[in-house]
Amino acid sequence: MTDLERRILADIDLEQPWSLIETMSRMVREHPRDVDAAIDVLVERLRGYGIEPTVHEADLYLSLPGEASVTAAGRTLRAKAPAASASAPDGVEAELVHVPADYARAADDVFGEVDASEAARAAVAGRIVISEGYANPANVSRFQAWGAVAVIAINPGAYVHWGTCTTVWGNPGLDDLDRVPRIPAVNVSRPDGDALLELARAGGRATVRTVMEEGWFRSKLPVVEIRGTEYPDEFVLLHGHIDAWDAGVGDNATGDATMLEVARILHQHRGELKRSVRIAWWPGHSTGRYAGSTWYADRFALELDEGCVVQINCDSPGCRWATEYIDVSHTAETHGFASRVIREVTGKTMRGERAHQAGDYSFNNIGISGHFMLLSTMSEEDRAAKGYYAVGGCGANIEWHTEFDTMDIADRDILLADVRIYLLSVLRHATADVLAFDWRATADEFAATLRRYGDAAGDRFDLAPARAATQSLRAALDAFYADVEAGRIAPRDANRVIRRLARSLIPVNFTRELRFWHHPALTIPPLPDLAPALELAQHDATTLGFARTTLTRAQNRFVATLREATHEVGATARRA
Ligand SMILES: [Zn+2]
Repeated sequence: MTDLERRILADIDLEQPWSLIETMSRMVREHPRDVDAAIDVLVERLRGYGIEPTVHEADLYLSLPGEASVTAAGRTLRAKAPAASASAPDGVEAELVHVPADYARAADDVFGEVDASEAARAAVAGRIVISEGYANPANVSRFQAWGAVAVIAINPGAYVHWGTCTTVWGNPGLDDLDRVPRIPAVNVSRPDGDALLELARAGGRATVRTVMEEGWFRSKLPVVEIRGTEYPDEFVLLHGHIDAWDAGVGDNATGDATMLEVARILHQHRGELKRSVRIAWWPGHSTGRYAGSTWYADRFALELDEGCVVQINCDSPGCRWATEYIDVSHTAETHGFASRVIREVTGKTMRGERAHQAGDYSFNNIGISGHFMLLSTMSEEDRAAKGYYAVGGCGANIEWHTEFDTMDIADRDILLADVRIYLLSVLRHATADVLAFDWRATADEFAATLRRYGDAAGDRFDLAPARAATQSLRAALDAFYADVEAGRIAPRDANRVIRRLARSLIPVNFTRELRFWHHPALTIPPLPDLAPALELAQHDATTLGFARTTLTRAQNRFVATLREATHEVGATARRA
């Protein structure tokens, strides 16, 4: 750590974020009117620090769950509808059918193996599916496609969780309307689910009732900009959601407070930032599937394209027992940077993973490097000892997305460590001469992906051109970074290349959509265009031809993208 970094980190005053967490722990933040009220509190705090945020007015398409229940065999069971469930205030009544599933490793994963045979699909049509897991987009869209009239998800434990069940990312556009869920879905607890399973085995019927409020809402969306002194048009984007389920403390009052403290300190040290820093608090994350960050990505797409050097997401830091830094999301080129920051602040080793199509990673289609989403979390041993199942936040505390995500979930020491990590990350990006992204790591990730796809394809499809393009890029990057380290390339030129690589290499690795559009909220394999290579062995002669056609086009896109990137990297190295 440099002297400047040590000095700035020493200015953290835990009482500042902690008192915001306490205030927000008393504020339910689901309806936009209540989220606006929390934003008013935040804005007051910022003004108290001498910071004037821009408060945008965003039009967001939201789905707010109201009452929900399952009635069966004369009993009414407690249930929670996820956002984007269809509204069925009069109830949908039908026979129950159990589609067994394993509880997924992570809350946003597709269910484990589900029997998708013709017979299994036929059994679902016209019935209410009951299945293990969460009422998440992957299974609600699947069971809807099979003809189910409603879905009941049996959550893994005694808690009933909120969530979302749409694959639409942010505000729907015309092209997305087909994917808006048309059937009601609910979550129930494990004990209630077990009772329903017994009923299902006996051929019983149930009624699923949901009351949803869905439509366009105007919502406040505050953004702080701290202007850099040397490259003010380049900016670091730190962002996280301010809406929550109930009064969610660990998800995400702790994150809101973390960003507030980063804003307070960087504002004090604004004269020492080379680049600008933008800090954004998103509404509509939970009830609009990242509607706030997506609105911002759409509304300010061209500014983001031209000036954003990195996006850092802040969700569920500072939770109790969350002493480890495992399963930390990042794009490959930020791995070294992110793990160094975590090691320097905590002494711990980060275990990173490829960023999921989740959280507020709404900037992949523009092509912006990113790191962190969830950050600190419990160790696997600790979770196993507590008998905890997978959840999607709160540092792995299973009160996540329930009314029990209260002050008990926040932890002062862990919050302090996490504030330090976020502050040091933003500070380093904002003061770096040369941006600390190593695109060799991305090229290596591409090579590993192609090896896996090539092994699966065998002699059914030749990925040699893709491999060759990756090798050429890797070689050009070796020369580029050697020149950067030797000072043979001016930082300004190096940074231009590094930023432009993000604009081309992140989209090709994270989306099949055009730039400025948004990929659906479903699992995206690496180099998604080329992922059909994994399934070639399952095709017959006819469909193999279709798959090869797809892969030929996919490989063309990939090779052309990499050749252009290689040319740009090489041209900069030669000019130097
Ligand atoms: Zn969250």
